[in-house]
Amino acid sequence: MIRKILIVDDSPIARKMLKTCIPKDQGYEFYEAGDGKDGFEKYKDVKPDVTFMDLTMPVMTGYESLEEIIKYDKNAVIIVVTADVQIKAIKKCMKLGAYMVLRKPLKREHIHSALSNARDTLQKAD
Ligand SMILES: [Mg+2]
Repeated sequence: MIRKILIVDDSPIARKMLKTCIPKDQGYEFYEAGDGKDGFEKYKDVKPDVTFMDLTMPVMTGYESLEEIIKYDKNAVIIVVTADVQIKAIKKCMKLGAYMVLRKPLKREHIHSALSNARDTLQKAD
């Protein structure tokens, strides 16, 4: 089950846009962070079921944040959201333990299927 969703992005508009792509009738609780470090701190605080992670951010990048979170919780479900669609960047994210990589600009259908995949994965882990 997915209850808590953490959105890590330095752009408030990007966070808002992502949120609008997520169904409102599922009772999700949303948490937000504006950089990778804040994202890691919030992760430890909130223990979200799913985390959306931007890559290019100040203070701590999404790569570093992803790495720290996976070190802390190897089962973390982290969906990287990035405009950088180079194979190299995607491979790096997957190697660091990302659950999947979604391309910006985001499409509602992609968010929906990512969440439904994540729900299945979390169910199997229970
Ligand atoms: Mg950014």
